[in-house]
Amino acid sequence: MKPTLYIVVPCYNEEEVLPITAPMFIGKIESLTAAGKISDKSRVFFVNDGSRDKTWDIIKSLAQKDNRVKGISLSRNRGHQNALLAGLMEAKDNCDITVSIDCDGQDDINAIDKMVDEYLAGCDVVYGVRSNRKSDTAFKRGSAQLYYKLLNVLGAEVVYNHADYRLLSSRVLRELEGFKEVNLFLRGMITLVGFKSTSVSYERTPRLAGESKYPLKKMLSLAFDGITSFSVKPIRIITAFGFIVALISLVGIIWSVVTALMGKSVAGWASMVSIICFLGGVQLLSLGIIGEYIGKMYLETKQRPRYIISETTDNK
Ligand code: UDP
Ligand code: MG
Repeated sequence: MKPTLYIVVPCYNEEEVLPITAPMFIGKIESLTAAGKISDKSRVFFVNDGSRDKTWDIIKSLAQKDNRVKGISLSRNRGHQNALLAGLMEAKDNCDITVSIDCDGQDDINAIDKMVDEYLAGCDVVYGVRSNRKSDTAFKRGSAQLYYKLLNVLGAEVVYNHADYRLLSSRVLRELEGFKEVNLFLRGMITLVGFKSTSVSYERTPRLAGESKYPLKKMLSLAFDGITSFSVKPIRIITAFGFIVALISLVGIIWSVVTALMGKSVAGWASMVSIICFLGGVQLLSLGIIGEYIGKMYLETKQRPRYIISETTDNK
């Protein structure tokens, strides 16, 4: 039995690039079907993430013209990770494998062939890994590298230079469904699901049209979610730091008492102020980090739905 492939593509305000990349995705389904690797029930599955432009209209008209195109529309913008999860969860009962990919053409679609080959060879997860980051700015490249290292040090397992371009089998998707968290960081969750995995490398190119929908603010918030959703080490670091500071101040207290008793105490105003400021800063920072975790718990306990679908295309 040939597997049914769904290419899951989240789109947010992508009217400029969709007309260019949609035919590429359809072409990939066509060539893989022709090569006899996937079934003719395979589809390109678009998720409209509450776009404010003509993205959903474009998806609907694509679906009307071509029955290999399907789409769902979310009731509002929920962000890339939620849109992707919506696509994966809605696809999982209709297919054997999904490949998630951005809709801007940055990820080389020819890597899908290799991914499908790896699946046929027995892998459940195939990560698309960037062979270079030439198309990114020096800042994005540098910060990303630092971030992957930091994540791994803090104990969240992520694949280096892998974003959200990957193949997942329906078996993995069914297990992923059991991960109920609302603070999503998919690339960390997939490594937790486990199963046999491998990676294929591809070259990442510049966006074909339109602008990045990941401004610095969204990038930072994803980065922060990645750390605080997967690691409690920051809290432990705070504890350890507090312990060390307490020890040092104990020594300081003894020292000041001894000097006072020896009648050698001087007007130590400067050192007093700097110690108070430093401790104040450390306390605020620590409270902030702890507050971040409590905030996350608050959001998780509400168990709100992670996405709401408002419309679907009719294609089966
Ligand atoms: N995206 C989305 N919802 C958002 C932001 C982005 O679905 O709120 C989609 C976007 O349409 C694209 C993918 O996520 O398909 C990656 O975004 P982008 O290419 O802008 O990010 P970058 O490559 O610059 O990191
Ligand atoms: Mg992009």
